[in-house]
Amino acid sequence: MKAHRAILIKLPKDKCDTAYIRRLMALTNLAYRGYEAWVPDLPMTIQYQLYNFKNMKSLVFGAEPKRWFVRAWVPLKTFRVYADGSRKGDRNAPVVLDFRSSIIRIRQVCRNEHGYVVELPMPKWVVDRLSESGDVKYAIIGLKDDEPYLALTAEREVEPYQPSGYILAVDVNSWGHGIAWGLVKGNRISSFKQEGLNVGKIVGLYKQAVRRERRLGALKRLGLGDTVNAKRARRLVKRLRSRAYRLIRAEAVFLARKLTKKALRYRAMVVIDDVDWESLKELFTRRYGKEISKLLLSGLKGFVKLLVTQLQWYGVPYEFKRLYSRKCPNCKHKLTQQKGRVMICTNCGFKAPRDMVPIYWVLTPSPP
Ligand SMILES: [Zn+2]
Repeated sequence: MKAHRAILIKLPKDKCDTAYIRRLMALTNLAYRGYEAWVPDLPMTIQYQLYNFKNMKSLVFGAEPKRWFVRAWVPLKTFRVYADGSRKGDRNAPVVLDFRSSIIRIRQVCRNEHGYVVELPMPKWVVDRLSESGDVKYAIIGLKDDEPYLALTAEREVEPYQPSGYILAVDVNSWGHGIAWGLVKGNRISSFKQEGLNVGKIVGLYKQAVRRERRLGALKRLGLGDTVNAKRARRLVKRLRSRAYRLIRAEAVFLARKLTKKALRYRAMVVIDDVDWESLKELFTRRYGKEISKLLLSGLKGFVKLLVTQLQWYGVPYEFKRLYSRKCPNCKHKLTQQKGRVMICTNCGFKAPRDMVPIYWVLTPSPP
């Protein structure tokens, strides 16, 4: 099984001609749709390598591992020079990964100028993937919010390991109090924790942004939309919003990493809550409003995606399973809440703390 992971690297804007990259993206889009257009004032080498990708089933490699491909980012081959001096890939590839000098060279794709090269420091991420027997065969370049980026895709041949009997259950639904996870063996929960997103902080940031926006609206109605004050307010709103997004993203990255490590340590099988996104969206919207709900959902979905990517990369076996919190894991009867956040099944007598109920869904039922 081939596993993939990708990294996005921001390119120096002053060294990249965004108009040129946009043209290459348009050309890629055509190629992706099966057209071959030879543009006289673009380097033939770049166009050749673009159409070479057509020989590999499709330009998008089956759209795995990243959706960016279908947004017509320009696929690029790489030439790798390893620390021991050995080489792999096409010598004329536009992207050179030089591990001896720890530099990435991008040739002819940042500016339409013969022999134009942009050099970047080699990210530690790439070196780490290499040390895990991964290889970076492909890269893509493109624009995101009008900023130039290079994305590298590491590939690795991996077989999922045989689980040791431990199960790591990840309850995504309880994000309101953080993500919850439980480490289970047989019919015993050996550890349990709720952690993650600081919803209060995010809601706070968001409300601040909304307040500033209202003030901005008032200024606009007074015809003062172009004043220094209005401009400052606009910048602040933007900053508050992006801070909220960054906070969620950082939390997702941290937790995905932590849970992958935990699974590896116990050679556990991972069971991820198969979230009903629609009903979760409704719940969040009712509780926090539409915009914050969108923010929280994107954080959760990002977390699941990151987690799955990393589990695949390290060969951790995993599956999705619905982990209910209001249904009895033994007899599927509806649970009733009692004092002290305890859930009880009036049908079979099952009893557990409310937040831990989802974890019980992966327990081996004890014999009657
Ligand atoms: Zn029951």
